Amino acid sequence: MTLSTSLKGRNAVVTGSTSGIGLAIARALAAEGANLVINGLGSADEIEAVRAGIEKDFGVRVVYSPANMLASDEVTGMVADAEAGFGSVDILVNNAGIQFVSPIEELPLAKWDQIIAINLSAAFYAIRTAVPGMKRRRWGRIISTASAHSLVASPFKAAYVTAKHGLTGLTKTVALELAPYGVTVNCISPGYVWTPLVEKQIPDTMKTRGLTREQVIDDVLLAAQPTKQFVTPEQVAAMAVFLASDAASQITGSNLSIDGGWTAQ
Ligand code: NAD
Repeated sequence: MTLSTSLKGRNAVVTGSTSGIGLAIARALAAEGANLVINGLGSADEIEAVRAGIEKDFGVRVVYSPANMLASDEVTGMVADAEAGFGSVDILVNNAGIQFVSPIEELPLAKWDQIIAINLSAAFYAIRTAVPGMKRRRWGRIISTASAHSLVASPFKAAYVTAKHGLTGLTKTVALELAPYGVTVNCISPGYVWTPLVEKQIPDTMKTRGLTREQVIDDVLLAAQPTKQFVTPEQVAAMAVFLASDAASQITGSNLSIDGGWTAQ
């Protein structure tokens, strides 16, 4: 039997896809033929350029949802609208996420709530809304961008590490519930990924710590990553495409690391 990676005719929702990893996942799914709902923050002009660019590059339908992942009703509405507009949500990628670094005793209560809401609860709301249709059609792919921090901790990232560990628990539970219905549920756990966000931090870190660019990359950013190389958004996206494909129909409840050896230590 030939296994196809084509996603022609499938409809996908990718949260937090206006930049970084989410955008790479959206483009990779579109390259395989999936129609998309993209989502995330940004200026209207930039978002429209991204939306129209994907449509033009890959000849698929792309709709933008401004849903704020902090608001349960907006998350639910985004998935319900996608289901109504496209006729199905076959692939759901829970990717939106934020980070905040601080000692536990100084972590603002509002920041804790925000990180849990965007990085964890939004995935629950989206999954809960997408599942009935996936079960009915007996096909679905739910993929969440977790992190190496879903497996191991780092100091000063309590809310983020808690949310990402929670995402793996949610993934395993829902995978078991949906196993009889042809719906797989997995997460991808990247180490440090080269995104514009990371790149922008380098000059400031060079200045504040008095380090060279190479020292910032090797001794600060990549301290935990034995390959001493960043993961690329495209590599994470390729893993998402694989998980969405027929070849991955027996992978469910898994947490797949792509972290240059970080969590092997
Ligand atoms: P990014 O900042 O480039 O992208 C985050 C996306 O989420 C953006 O599209 C942003 O607009 C969106 N977003 C943020 N708050 C939102 C909200 N309230 N409502 C809707 N959308 C919102 O970051 P990234 O590096 O691409 O991160 C994407 C995911 O990958 C996150 O879940 C992050 O935790 C995870 N991750 C990143 C790395 C890394 O090193 N960059 C490593 C492991 C895991």
